[in-house]
Amino acid sequence: MLPKLLFEMGSNGREGVQLPELDVPARDLSELIPMQHRRKQELRLPQLSEPEVVRHFVNLSTLNHHVDKGFYPLGSCTMKYNPKINEETQSLTGFRCLHPHQPEETVQGALELMFLLGRYLQEIAGLDGLTLQPAAGAHGELTGLMLIYAYHQSRGNTRKHILIPDSAHGTNPASVSISGYSSKQIPSNDAGLVDLEHLRRVVNEDTAALMLTNPNTLGIFETQVDKVAKILHDAGALMYMDGANLNALVGMVRPGDLGFDVVHFNLHKTFSTPHGGGGPGAGPVGVSKKLIPFLPLPCIVKESQYYTMYYDREQSIGKLSTFLGNFAVLVRAYTYICMLGSKGLKNVSKNAIINANYLYNLVKDYYHVPYKSRPMHEFVLSGDKQKAFGIKTLDIAKRLLDFGVHAPTVYFPLIVSEALMIEPTETESKDSIEEFAQYLIDIAKDAQAGKIDLFSQAPMNTPVSRLDEASAAKELNIRYEF
Ligand SMILES: *Cc1c(COP(=O)(O)O)cnc(C)c1O
Repeated sequence: MLPKLLFEMGSNGREGVQLPELDVPARDLSELIPMQHRRKQELRLPQLSEPEVVRHFVNLSTLNHHVDKGFYPLGSCTMKYNPKINEETQSLTGFRCLHPHQPEETVQGALELMFLLGRYLQEIAGLDGLTLQPAAGAHGELTGLMLIYAYHQSRGNTRKHILIPDSAHGTNPASVSISGYSSKQIPSNDAGLVDLEHLRRVVNEDTAALMLTNPNTLGIFETQVDKVAKILHDAGALMYMDGANLNALVGMVRPGDLGFDVVHFNLHKTFSTPHGGGGPGAGPVGVSKKLIPFLPLPCIVKESQYYTMYYDREQSIGKLSTFLGNFAVLVRAYTYICMLGSKGLKNVSKNAIINANYLYNLVKDYYHVPYKSRPMHEFVLSGDKQKAFGIKTLDIAKRLLDFGVHAPTVYFPLIVSEALMIEPTETESKDSIEEFAQYLIDIAKDAQAGKIDLFSQAPMNTPVSRLDEASAAKELNIRYEF
């Protein structure tokens, strides 16, 4: 049964805290708060004992799916386990109780942490400068495009368009249109890679940059990235890397070495900070030397063991968020990087690739595989075989929920029909991967056997069954009587 609201529980007089006896003279409230500011009616707060409140929230926390509850193979999103030590460090009083307006000399530790995190990310990306300010990957994209604009402007011509492969994430063209550039689509070839011939034909003096995800959203490494970079650079354009899939590269391949001039990180993907509802994100942006003069302000500089916020950069694009970004998120990512060290980070990527390849090999005979290249940290299947039996990818995704796992990303990338995009992160054990593979195999068999009812009614084991998704999103109903 679904839990009630706190307001529908408890009874008068129940309480969870016991306050100590008053140790100062009692005064009447009317002496302290003028009558016109006082409440006219009794405040209707629920009255409950501590165990009732704890049970209420623990029960609520299990209604939805989350990484601490079960397998979460959401492709492109890198839903990795968030180590609990991240929460411990970010809640240390010295970090948690800081105020952003505190004098600089009293926040040296926090500035050092951000300075070092920036250095580590720069090293991971193989780039020369970095900003921690953007609050998400998409925000990082916008920042990167603003940097690219400022760079071209400083050379006398802002140029007109940004090239984007047809496999790209929707935030890429969205960021481009916010930045004032227009976007041009580059088709993928049969191997799922950027079509070089087409690229050569469309790059010209109006091209400001190419935005590329590597490995791309099909989970395939863009093996010709050096050739792509040469085509762009020869035309005076820049290379932007959408770093959302960096979980496949950390410690092994550096975007700067591949020829990228700008890269955004998604700390909530690659560096284990919570996604979405779990807290705000962070999308730091690293740049090559020629873009450093345009980075947002303030930045943090170190002068003889003292950290200062630096505001003096004439060509800066300005400020992207309040203060220095989402500090508590940065503490978590810093913790994660320090905990693993360079060897540990390299193992993360290796294991992410091994896990994806293992799962891919367990299930590939049961689904249509649109691109056969060996995947990196994720892979894309198509539900076309199942669709022939009247079962769509959406039905497969809903049916998976009945097994207590989250569904993969569906219907993305757009170039794969009935796409199922699967990313089993590196923290998953061999057992959990085999278990998930078995669910996918059972589902494929049930589809082939024509068990339509299993699918049309799924999910049946979740707190709510199949909703009209458009109205569920638009008319949020958080009450329990569905
Ligand atoms: C997640 C993602 C983004 C956007 O990042 P947010 O942090 O969600 O704004 C961009 N590109 C790709 C490929 C992604 O997977």
